[in-house]
Amino acid sequence: MAISECPSCTFHIPIESNMQEGDVIECPDCGAKLKLVSLMPPLFEEIKEE
Ligand SMILES: [Zn+2]
Repeated sequence: MAISECPSCTFHIPIESNMQEGDVIECPDCGAKLKLVSLMPPLFEEIKEE
């Protein structure tokens, strides 16, 4: 299973096989909203809330 890092806290987040580019998840460690911007390699971008 692929692993990527939370850009906010560097927590290692597993990339599940059913995830697709553009999916938004919440970091289980810091609660940041993260968008999966790339699958190869898996890369998250934090969504800043106003
Ligand atoms: Zn985090």
